[in-house]
Amino acid sequence: MGDSVFLIERDSMIGGKLASLGKIFPGVVKGEDMVDRLYKEVKNDERITLLTNTKIKECRGNIGDFKIKLQNNISGVSSPDSENDINVGAILVATGFESYSPNDGEFGYKEINNVITLPEFRELLKNRKEGKNLIVKNRKIRDIAFIYCVGSRQIKGENKYCSRYCCSAAIQSSLDIKEQFSDIQVYHFTKGVRTYGAQELKYAEASRSGDIFIQFPDKEEPVVYSEKGQTLVKAKDILSSKKEIEAAVDLVVLVTGMVPDSDKSVGSLLKLPRGRDNFFNEIHMKLRPVETVIDGITIAGTCQGPKGVMESANSALSAAVKTHSFVSKGELELSPIIAYTDVKTCEWCGACSEACPYNAISKSDVEGKMVAVINKTTCKGCGMCLPVCDSDSIELTSFTNKEIESMIEILAN
Ligand code: SF4
Ligand code: SF4
Repeated sequence: MGDSVFLIERDSMIGGKLASLGKIFPGVVKGEDMVDRLYKEVKNDERITLLTNTKIKECRGNIGDFKIKLQNNISGVSSPDSENDINVGAILVATGFESYSPNDGEFGYKEINNVITLPEFRELLKNRKEGKNLIVKNRKIRDIAFIYCVGSRQIKGENKYCSRYCCSAAIQSSLDIKEQFSDIQVYHFTKGVRTYGAQELKYAEASRSGDIFIQFPDKEEPVVYSEKGQTLVKAKDILSSKKEIEAAVDLVVLVTGMVPDSDKSVGSLLKLPRGRDNFFNEIHMKLRPVETVIDGITIAGTCQGPKGVMESANSALSAAVKTHSFVSKGELELSPIIAYTDVKTCEWCGACSEACPYNAISKSDVEGKMVAVINKTTCKGCGMCLPVCDSDSIELTSFTNKEIESMIEILAN
């Protein structure tokens, strides 16, 4: 598309969690190899300016003219902090997700030594020394239990959503282990496997390889406990008329889901709305899936909600095309109905600015007085700022108080 791009990365390397995911479905390419290839492409493209260890400190302006203040070297390892400004026409947000971190004692986590999370397990596999046996925490592993939906599809907790990628990631991990250690027995304690689409093939492959799938009821989760030095997982199995199944295992892997990024700074600076699940919200899931209510700002990948790698890549492509369409147009269509303030009566209390869902109101100095000024390109004329203004200093074009009063009068007579 030929646009110039500033790629702002808060970490020291681009790629987010992808590099740590191991083999990506359908199990041919490794995440780290994908990141490596993309990194080389980015470095060799002179239209892309890559800024690592960098955070957004401030963002002003609107579509076509965003002024962003950046803070570099946030890790503080290479040189003292420095700041610089960039001016861009549109912003694409792809801040990713965090893995759910189980509470102490949740399925024995941090209380029983051999209970770990799926990301920790992937890390162990990645850094493992070659050998005939799989050794974890000085223990030879013969039996593994994966417990699914940890931090997702919660009955009691807040995370009601399915994290979409973790069933496939757990099954892929099991197949990776079996490839090297065919005698390891794997038990999958699931709430019902959701390997949608072609990922079903991996589910079938794992079943054929001897993995045992147990489906526990939503409200009766498995219990992990330790007895005489042995770790046991007990659950009722829906697939065999709620028969109680107990497995003695050497390792329990908690298949943890996705939660929104805990660093809320980008969302609050750009005033991006969030959904009930706390991920960023698009305007319409089907009709405008990557646009936000802030003109010129799109969202992509898992900052918007749980997605697999392919789904994230597709949403990023879609957001990139939309972003290009913002800057390539060269002109904007403004809303014919917008709000404006009366600078004589406004005393800047900030109430309207807080109420505006489009970040259209800012505090400005007009003839030596601080007042609310409404950005004509960002205002959507929604009227949310009007009722919160105690001094009635805001009006809408074509719907001024006088005009509305006249309409009511005519209707009443
Ligand atoms: S709410 Fe009214 S008085 Fe307060 S800053 Fe906004 S326009 Fe000014
Ligand atoms: S009319 Fe709506 S979009 Fe415009 S300034 Fe008021 S609250 Fe913001």
